[in-house]
Amino acid sequence: NLSDKLQRSFKTLRGQGTISDENISDAIREIRLALLESDVNLTVVNELVEHIRTRAIGEKVATALSPSEQIVKIVHDELVNLLGRDTARFQKSSQPPSVILMAGLQGSGKTTTSGKLAQWLKKAGHRPMLVSVDVYRPAAREQLAIVARSISAQLYEGKLTDSDIAKPGTEAVLRLAREARKDAANFGCDMLIVDTAGRNQIDAALMQEMAELKKLLNPSEILFVADAMTGQDAVNSAKAFNDLLTITGAILTKMDGDARGGAALSIRHVTGAPIKFLGTGEKPDAFEPFHPDRIVSRIMGHGDIATLLERAESTLDRGKAEQFAKKALSGDGFTLDDFRDQLRQIKKMGSMKSILKMLPSVGPFAGMQQAVENVDEGQFTRVESIINSMTQKERLDHEIINGNRRKRIAKGSGTTVQDVNNLLRQYAQMRKMFKSMGGGGGIKAQQRMMS
Ligand code: GDP
Ligand code: MG
Repeated sequence: NLSDKLQRSFKTLRGQGTISDENISDAIREIRLALLESDVNLTVVNELVEHIRTRAIGEKVATALSPSEQIVKIVHDELVNLLGRDTARFQKSSQPPSVILMAGLQGSGKTTTSGKLAQWLKKAGHRPMLVSVDVYRPAAREQLAIVARSISAQLYEGKLTDSDIAKPGTEAVLRLAREARKDAANFGCDMLIVDTAGRNQIDAALMQEMAELKKLLNPSEILFVADAMTGQDAVNSAKAFNDLLTITGAILTKMDGDARGGAALSIRHVTGAPIKFLGTGEKPDAFEPFHPDRIVSRIMGHGDIATLLERAESTLDRGKAEQFAKKALSGDGFTLDDFRDQLRQIKKMGSMKSILKMLPSVGPFAGMQQAVENVDEGQFTRVESIINSMTQKERLDHEIINGNRRKRIAKGSGTTVQDVNNLLRQYAQMRKMFKSMGGGGGIKAQQRMMS
């Protein structure tokens, strides 16, 4: 990823006290390459690099940050700036229903995303209705019907005449759209999501049809759906759709794959429209509002810290966490009981793998990604069952756990004495570490941990 490359190029920078013209040039060259390799469009790269250079020169004066940290921060800020801070808000028309027109190439995820959007709007208190105007492929309209059913959303099914089926065309498309809008109004639906036909490539007929749909429906939102995996191609079609329709936003799908996210930057730059949502899977709820700073962190390899913290905040019990910190830092207060509590709290946050994946891949966490692959989820459960097999007395005073007790605990938890020994060793290390953190040398101990 981008940051791996940056980090490599910063190896040379690291030992140096300040940013100089020379090391800026080196870094800029690397940044340029890394951005291009992340599928960011050439024009965008050139502009970004100029911004970064200007800022880096401006901030040459020494700060608390090392040169490499400084440049990483500048790159981060500039990428976030480029993406803008718009959140996923919707324009509405004065007369309901507000129409959301979905545009994009075949296979980009329009139908799937229409369903996701309907579900998201429902959760936000709206009454959306779905309609597919893809009269060219009967399976396409059936697909949307299935999606609508799975999320219990309103659907305008409509009927095609025999001649529509024999000779499908824009006329039928416009009629379906008109009927759907009327139906939505009759049903008291405040939003109409119009799923459209796509082509493998942009062709004149498709564009003409989209233009006519826009004219007829006067949509309050025209959302361009792009497959993030297609990189540069997505940028070219974004430009074509935007030139014709003036899109109001974009949705990047398939961000669950190893898409390089560079498409987000380019689409935003080329169209000026904000990225509003990300699709992160095939299921209806694999959908999230777009946060510029988060995707930039992901592009740069700093992990999705914000998401992680949010998840931690919503699942961890604040009071308990504070209580724990107090106890742990006092050294001897940290019992096996507390240890088990902590494990349970962490488990509530999700699988260990999913948590580790969100950590940065640089700095103290470098090499973590490797560890992620080797995480043994069973280990957690094993440790918990070992502690469960202890008596309360043992949990409060680990020193009484002698050989016989260890045997009994191993048997009770279905593990081995070796496992019990390992756990007790780990626990002793943690106690020692906490104690040193609490006992005056807090910061220093922390630094030791990080280095
Ligand atoms: P359309 O031709 O633009 O309507 O595209 P579809 O909605 O039919 O989606 C094409 C394929 O992409 C389907 O197999 C979807 O399940 C899949 N898909 C759509 N969005 C996502 C996503 O965010 N993640 C993943 N992994 N697959 C997606
Ligand atoms: Mg479709």
